[in-house]
Amino acid sequence: AEAKGDGGAPTPMMAQFLEIKSRHADCLLFYRMGDFYELFFDDAVEASKALGITLTRRGKHEGADIPMAGVPVVSSDDYLEKLIAQGYRVAVCEQVEDPAEAKKRGAKSVVKREVVRLVTPGTITEETLLEPGRPNFLAALARLGGEGGSFALGWTDLSTGQFRIAPSAADRIFADVVALEPAELVVPDALREDEALQPLLRRLGRRVRFEPASLFDAATAAERLQSFFEVSTLDGFGAFGRAELSAGAALLSYLERTQLKARPPLERPERVEAGSFMVIDPATRASLELSRTVSGKRQGSLLATIDRCVTGAGSRLLASRLAWPLTDPQAIARRQDSVAALLDDPELRGELRAALKGMPDTERALSRLALDRGGPRDLGAVSEGLERASLIGELLQEGDFSWELMEACRAISALPQDLRFALRATLRDELPLQRRDGGFVREGADAALDEALALRDHSRQVVADLQGRYCSETGVRSLKIRHNNVLGYFVEVPEAHGAALLEQGSGFSHRQTLASAMRFTTVELCDLETRIAQSAAEALRIELTLFDRMRGEVLAATDALRAASAALALIDVTAALAELALSGNWVRPLVDSSLAFRVECGRHPVVEAALKASGGGQFVANDCDLSPPAGTGAKREAGAIWLITGPNMGGKSTFLRQNALIAVLAQIGSFVPATKAHIGVVDRLFSRVGASDDLAEGRSTFMVEMVETAAILNQASERTLVVLDEIGRGTATYDGLSIAFAAVEHLHEVNRCRALFATHFHEMTALAARLKRLANVTVRVKEWEGEVIFLHEVTAGVADRSYGIQVARLAGLPPAVLERARQVLTQLEKSEQGEKRTAFIDDLPLFAALNRKPAEPEVPSALKALSEVDPDAMSPREALEALYRLKALL
Ligand code: ADP
Repeated sequence: AEAKGDGGAPTPMMAQFLEIKSRHADCLLFYRMGDFYELFFDDAVEASKALGITLTRRGKHEGADIPMAGVPVVSSDDYLEKLIAQGYRVAVCEQVEDPAEAKKRGAKSVVKREVVRLVTPGTITEETLLEPGRPNFLAALARLGGEGGSFALGWTDLSTGQFRIAPSAADRIFADVVALEPAELVVPDALREDEALQPLLRRLGRRVRFEPASLFDAATAAERLQSFFEVSTLDGFGAFGRAELSAGAALLSYLERTQLKARPPLERPERVEAGSFMVIDPATRASLELSRTVSGKRQGSLLATIDRCVTGAGSRLLASRLAWPLTDPQAIARRQDSVAALLDDPELRGELRAALKGMPDTERALSRLALDRGGPRDLGAVSEGLERASLIGELLQEGDFSWELMEACRAISALPQDLRFALRATLRDELPLQRRDGGFVREGADAALDEALALRDHSRQVVADLQGRYCSETGVRSLKIRHNNVLGYFVEVPEAHGAALLEQGSGFSHRQTLASAMRFTTVELCDLETRIAQSAAEALRIELTLFDRMRGEVLAATDALRAASAALALIDVTAALAELALSGNWVRPLVDSSLAFRVECGRHPVVEAALKASGGGQFVANDCDLSPPAGTGAKREAGAIWLITGPNMGGKSTFLRQNALIAVLAQIGSFVPATKAHIGVVDRLFSRVGASDDLAEGRSTFMVEMVETAAILNQASERTLVVLDEIGRGTATYDGLSIAFAAVEHLHEVNRCRALFATHFHEMTALAARLKRLANVTVRVKEWEGEVIFLHEVTAGVADRSYGIQVARLAGLPPAVLERARQVLTQLEKSEQGEKRTAFIDDLPLFAALNRKPAEPEVPSALKALSEVDPDAMSPREALEALYRLKALL
């Protein structure tokens, strides 16, 4: 009834709603009304769509119905989860006083309400809302100095406290953001309409938060960071540029705003140096299915296939390694050393994994405790984490392992032992979810608590004794003393026996009559009840004090706990990679700063695993060598290009992708699926294989392909690895062929990068005669009784035929169509004999022309004629005639 307006002034409740909503315009407002959170107006419409809940109406505002939708408070977490997953932000607005209080102020008063929490995709910490194996990033993007200015990104995983800042650049910002897959990206308002950023903003959609310039203010940024971390200079954290400071400070300010009062538990910012990671643009990431398949699933991605971690923190670390492969050979070697150490020691590896398995997520528990959203189980998680860490520390103490593992061991040894003992001595084995439920402190941990509990439990015994006494006194054997929240303790007898107790002087006073029972109370029982209530309240008060003390002790050890958690995650990833290397028979690649790319007997880990799982036969291993040819002498070194021809289904895309994946795996410090590999560090990886997912953007396949090809030709350096599948297939044959031709020449002559290029244009194989570092390879097939058998073997040479019709037959095209296609093909092949299509290319100059000045462009004849006209010397009639002449030339 509160909301029923008459179309005039809003009701007091609506006025309150509108006022609160105006302060949280960019959130869905969950407005608490009794057992429901209600949403109004546009929020209701959005939420009903996003959640599939009923849209109703409640009262009127300015003459129109107010749309309303509601979710029950008890199940609100499920709804929150769905909204967060779709990128919404939710402001949770609670009643912050007893409705009775409001009534006292007058009939029309509204219960006081306040937003107590902002739930946003980038700032959640609840176990139920987070995926265990995935980081959850909140990122901020800053740009200083207008277009072409400097970009920077700051990001944090609030659920673990990680905080990083990195410089970026106009041509990289899209790739950098997509690599993060942020749950939320904070962007300055001024960039809302920025042309260059539109694809990024569109891609993130609802996950983008536009915030005012003040959040990004570079002048106060350093100061804000300093005061948050309580230091007088940031020098100790790294040399940050102005854009980087702006991004970092914006992130802090956004967090402070959304976390309302709590101080977010962040690590000190770590500066990520430019160039220390392999750049992988979004299309490449998608095409290689690094962390998701093209259809968006985790299952079937490289990450899912190689993840042998036994903890959530380990999986998260692996995911972030895969998002940012390294470029420093030394750093890569350090990771490899650790994997090798655990590979060589199966016993230790097994023990470490056993100790890690089923370990609670300490990192996330720690964050919840810091934000004061934690419960007894979070303390329990820290406690168990400490126990397991101590076990693992002992395991590692014994040996002389890699540098990283020794560092990890040191971090673990630095954990405060007294905290471990204190938690173990205080917490019970089974813990309740909420601290207000009590019952999480072990017996014997605190004398005062034990006393209160004894009193409470003793009183319960007294209640039981009292029940026995009442039974015999009244002679009612079925008399029970029971308890509920309305009456407290009471005596209950079946209705038939009620009369005796109703008598005057029985000592029982009547409270309630039910259908089959009557309820009474007595003075003794009331006394007892008070004592029980008091002792229980006292016990809970003591428990809560102990909780706060333990929480304080845990938070005081935050740095040590974080460092140890990171160490445990590292051990998990390392052991998992060793396990993977062992089970898949992978080898340690040599990664250095050369331009080599030599893989012997390489395999595609995901295709191989799929073949194994389906019993689909053996994966055929293939070599690949794109290293600069020996003896290039004084000439600048450059990698080779392999041009791959062969029928569809022959294994071309698999071969292309597997080599790109091997480069990625090598640079995350993993072993690789091959018998031997030598990889000169790849600075940037481009892969365009298979369908593009950009079609939703409204561009044609061909257009998308050309835009992507342009990006590659413009950006690839000689350290880059390019893997391209069938450029130019989206247009007429000659167009497509010409473009593919020019692109390969450009890669060879100008980019000088290592590349694999699959094509259907057999004409292109002629390029090998002129391009020194280009080699032709093909996937072998065998014909047997008119059928093609794909051998999936990559060998030197050129495909003789496409076998398109055979493949079509395998796909089930009707026999009549196949027969007709054969006839047409024979005709075409005959008519082509004379005019050899490849002839034309020999007349073209090589692409080296690019290095010269571009030729004068051809001037259209109409323009030429126009330039010869002298208007001052013309009569009107001549001018008119000239105009006609010019028009005729068009
Ligand atoms: P293309 O790109 O030439 O059309 P694909 O690379 O898509 O061919 O391969 C087609 C199928 O052949 C794959 O789905 C896979 O099952 C199988 N295949 C490809 N390469 C191999 C290989 N090296 N060993 C075994 N099977 C393979």
